[in-house]
Amino acid sequence: MYVERLARVRQRMDQLRIDVLLLSVGADLPWLTGYRAMPLERLTMLVVPSTGEATLVVPRLEAARVVEHPEVFRLRPWDEADDPVALVARLAGAPGTVAVGDRTWARFVVELQDRLGGTRWLAASTVTAALRATKDPAEVAALRRAAASADRVAAHLQAGAIPLIGRTEAEVSADLGRCLLSEGHASVNFAIVAAGANAASPHHDPGARVIQPGEIVLCDFGGTMSDGYCSDITRCVHTGEPPSELRRLYEVLEEAQAAAVDAAVVGTPCEDVDGVARRIITEGGYGDHFIHRTGHGIGLEEHEDPYLVSGNGEPLAPGHAFSIEPGIYLEGRYGARIEDIVVATDAGPDPLNRVSHSLVVVG
Ligand code: ZN
Ligand code: ZN
Ligand code: ZN
Repeated sequence: MYVERLARVRQRMDQLRIDVLLLSVGADLPWLTGYRAMPLERLTMLVVPSTGEATLVVPRLEAARVVEHPEVFRLRPWDEADDPVALVARLAGAPGTVAVGDRTWARFVVELQDRLGGTRWLAASTVTAALRATKDPAEVAALRRAAASADRVAAHLQAGAIPLIGRTEAEVSADLGRCLLSEGHASVNFAIVAAGANAASPHHDPGARVIQPGEIVLCDFGGTMSDGYCSDITRCVHTGEPPSELRRLYEVLEEAQAAAVDAAVVGTPCEDVDGVARRIITEGGYGDHFIHRTGHGIGLEEHEDPYLVSGNGEPLAPGHAFSIEPGIYLEGRYGARIEDIVVATDAGPDPLNRVSHSLVVVG
């Protein structure tokens, strides 16, 4: 698997005339080698020359955690008294163009730029983003497991198994996090709980607000499984019967979300999927209140290519995995969002989240 990915990376480096790829913290490295660097002050860096052996430079004390793949890279631990930046510069040679991992700490980039004078620098995502966006069957299976786990948490929420009324958003957020872990996630990345008027803020920070009877509770949560793949789901519940105006808003939203999922067909430009959701919401009278893109890619990162946003004419390809998450936000009143992870396949869009999309009434 890693051998094949390395071959695709090298092919793309060739096309883009990149001499060396340098990967440190971030998801490119585990995608290519299975190893995730600790975000430490000590440098970890994979040096991939366009030809010849790749070398993983790691602090000696981290070396034991590396699962070796000699067919992909050679391990080169460095000791406390060594200069790892000099080591990487030496391995890089005198490259004309370097692509460096997008998440690499600026400190190391600055030092490397100093050593490798006269080099042109690009972001490694130029090489990796399009490759990582296309998931292989094992990656789709991993995303499906993550989504199923998130679905079980959402089902608990909809069944009323997580008490809401009289509790703070922060308490419910903590419950959702614990639930993600007990349903199989290795870590929690976020658990947005936004009640009533707070639901009109898409990335609301759950706080001390106590959930009341008769309001919407928007829950957007996700985490990472032990294999590194992420989940991300949004469901809304209502404490008691929702007012008819909110019912109507939610119907428009549900229709827009379902239509965008149906539109996520291989070959369709990403922006057209966004356009489908936006048109329905606009026709429903809420066009000014859908204030973000329709979705983002997901994989080893919560947000990665492809982005379903106006201006992205890139066509969907088999294996693209992304969220479809339109929302409608009425400032000062309430808001709602529905989010699923979907995979584009030759047989049509494959939604990984299957739990009910309805505005479920809970006690
Ligand atoms: Zn988000
Ligand atoms: Zn989300
Ligand atoms: Zn999302």
